[in-house]
Amino acid sequence: MNLAVDIGGTWIRACMFDDFGVQKTFKTSSQEVGLAKFIENILEKEDDIKTIGISYAGQVQNGMIIDSPNIKVDIANIKEYFQTKFDVKLFIENDLTCAALAEAKHLKKDYICVLHVGTGLGLGVVDNGRVLKGYSNLSAEIGHIPYKKTTLTCGCGRKNCIELFASGSGIKKWIKHLKLTCKPTLEALKLEKDGIKIANEFEAALSSAIGTIITLYNPQILVLGGGIIDANPSLLDIIKSKIKIYTLKPTLGNTEIITSSLKDAPLIGAKLLKDES
Ligand SMILES: [Zn+2]
Repeated sequence: MNLAVDIGGTWIRACMFDDFGVQKTFKTSSQEVGLAKFIENILEKEDDIKTIGISYAGQVQNGMIIDSPNIKVDIANIKEYFQTKFDVKLFIENDLTCAALAEAKHLKKDYICVLHVGTGLGLGVVDNGRVLKGYSNLSAEIGHIPYKKTTLTCGCGRKNCIELFASGSGIKKWIKHLKLTCKPTLEALKLEKDGIKIANEFEAALSSAIGTIITLYNPQILVLGGGIIDANPSLLDIIKSKIKIYTLKPTLGNTEIITSSLKDAPLIGAKLLKDES
């Protein structure tokens, strides 16, 4: 039996699965219980789990959690902790790396970029069938490329990241800064005079991020996902009409842009981690 876990700023979700499919599911608030405690509780009841795959909304390296702006860490050296204490093998990767693995398998493509627009702006890249990792497993941090100087501060501590414009947390920060009272949705923002500026800045920044991704990685398919994309289906056409000015022409012509058809790509990717290593 295997365990797959997906942890973000709000929820920890997990499923137990074997060759016959998913046998059990688990869900709890990631604000109330730490990741290690959550897994330990499951292992104490289910003694036939042999592998654990974790999709983590933060930076991880060699089985260790090294940074997580939205999640409290109870055990950072998580791979060693569980492999020493229990008879299991543990694999942990960034959530967008997991999502990219899941989308590449689902779409049967070897050159794919997956961009999630939710609380943050996260990217996973599969190139020639392999996940792009970088020297320290920290590649493709698109949310933190310099974009425009602001008075707001990003989760990483800087004041010029593109995530401050093209993410759910960015939208919330602008609403607070401009003292608006509307809901943090693009639809609601477009009904307010100052809100329109936030919505326009969001669309321009997201188009710029997507243009940059296509120019840098030359994917066959770029898959968009995450809460903001799910809640705004019209964004796909808006982006397609805007990205020309941000993208190197020959690369743009070769790239198809779609929205994800997977319900939970990071968790699906966590299930694949045991076969990747
Ligand atoms: Zn940043």
